[in-house]
Amino acid sequence: MTVIALDVGGTYIKGGTLGQDGTLHHRERWLTRAERGPEAVLETVLGCAATLAERCRPAAAGIVVPGIVDEASGNAVLAANLGWRDVPVQDWLAEHLDLPVAFGHDVRAGALAEARAGAGRDCPDFLFVPVGTGIAAAAVVAGRVLTGGHGRAGELGHVVVRPGGDPCSCGGRGCLETVASAAAVARRYARATGWQGVTAREVCHRADAGDAVAGTVWTEAIEALADGLATAISLYDPARVVLGGGLAKAGESFLAPLRKALGRRLTFHAAPSVVPAHLGDRAGCLGAALLAQDLLAERVIP
Ligand SMILES: [Zn+2]
Repeated sequence: MTVIALDVGGTYIKGGTLGQDGTLHHRERWLTRAERGPEAVLETVLGCAATLAERCRPAAAGIVVPGIVDEASGNAVLAANLGWRDVPVQDWLAEHLDLPVAFGHDVRAGALAEARAGAGRDCPDFLFVPVGTGIAAAAVVAGRVLTGGHGRAGELGHVVVRPGGDPCSCGGRGCLETVASAAAVARRYARATGWQGVTAREVCHRADAGDAVAGTVWTEAIEALADGLATAISLYDPARVVLGGGLAKAGESFLAPLRKALGRRLTFHAAPSVVPAHLGDRAGCLGAALLAQDLLAERVIP
């Protein structure tokens, strides 16, 4: 049976359909334009879902969103970059599509997709860590993606790695995200040089080319990320760390120094392999589709 899937992000809404072949079809991307307000974003999401549904006569839909989500109740508790607070996404979409709807968290859904069809295949215990504008994580433990007692597991970006450091959007200071996210790398380079608008990837290129300030900013990001990952490795003992998000696209310029920095921190631990994610920005959408297929499977089995 075919399902439709939506991955709602702060910049783009990504959609697709998934049939029995396990491949996403009808992949499409729409601008979220969150500045229009939460109701307008909801309307756009509905329109995207309807567009996809017209193409494949779906049996169910899956939708994943960022931020704090309550998977049990189907509510987006807080998605700051969508302007959503306590939005009953699951019920709302199910009513409008007249279909069963699965609802989840974007990063946890991405981990599910990597577990079944990506870099986490055949690995029941791994960490999925997208490093992009922000930093998040999902721990796959004994083949299951951890949700936590309140649906808030995996906030690696808000582990404090530099006490008393830069203020963070969460209200804390010195969180990993304030040093090692793509946004932080760009911001810290701009602060050190006065040059605005240089992206994290460009900082990485400049560091490779011998720019001393870029080198310092990049190294600080790698070291902070290694601190955060070492904490997570101590807690979960993963066999593998799967790195996704925009910064992972820097390839070995990112992974090689990270492996070294991590190696210096691990003592009694068994060092996990550190590998790039396979699914790129399809992970969330594929994960949403898999949640929808799982929902259908649950309904078939009495
Ligand atoms: Zn924080």
